[in-house]
Amino acid sequence: MDSAGVDRAVLLGWYWETHESCAWQNRFYADCVRAYPDRLSAFAAVHPAAGEAALVEIRRAHSEGLIGLGELSPHSQHIVMDDPRWLAVLELAGALGLPVNLHVTDPSPATGNYPGRVETPLADFAGMSQAFPNVSFILAHWGGCWWRHGVRMPGNVRFDTAASPLLYEPAVFAEGIAACGADRVLWGTDYPLDLYPRDPVTEPMNGFFAQARAALPAGVAGNVLGGNASRLLRLASDA
Ligand SMILES: [Zn+2]
Repeated sequence: MDSAGVDRAVLLGWYWETHESCAWQNRFYADCVRAYPDRLSAFAAVHPAAGEAALVEIRRAHSEGLIGLGELSPHSQHIVMDDPRWLAVLELAGALGLPVNLHVTDPSPATGNYPGRVETPLADFAGMSQAFPNVSFILAHWGGCWWRHGVRMPGNVRFDTAASPLLYEPAVFAEGIAACGADRVLWGTDYPLDLYPRDPVTEPMNGFFAQARAALPAGVAGNVLGGNASRLLRLASDA
């Protein structure tokens, strides 16, 4: 973070296969935030199949200072969109004011058949965000470039840029901002994922920060690289 010029990171969790792993990560992240409150914030992991225990875990993570849910992936966690246990998670997220970050796979075959690819129909996210208008959703990986696929996303949906160099050319920044609006795009990395596997020299966070700055249209860098996230997540302003 220091070498890349990043002053605050929001740690996102993983969509673990078990409730116990989610809870373990949440305790670890709470420790991280307590150790570096001026540099780190964190979202909580949760497995909807845990039912009531998942709701208890969300409340606990919230009380420990975690500020969102995600990255979640009901599609990867084998939860259907109308599963009452998933709907209860979203209802609680709305009640507690926790934004929800979700993994999205671009349906285009051009984004590749990488290990771990899980199809996530874009209509699922549009329907979910319509059904929960009081929840702020953040769709990861540019929301699968939803605008290329004839989908409309409601105003309570934002998008992050995590793993963008592995999926898209830098021109996606201008295209995505034109489609989404600059106030709905949050710079995400997927760090420590290696975003430049063919380039052993470039450190991922440094490289992607520099690439994003170069690719962002004039006048929007401050918002995409921090301002939007600060307002959504009510982060301490150090700008
Ligand atoms: Zn993801």
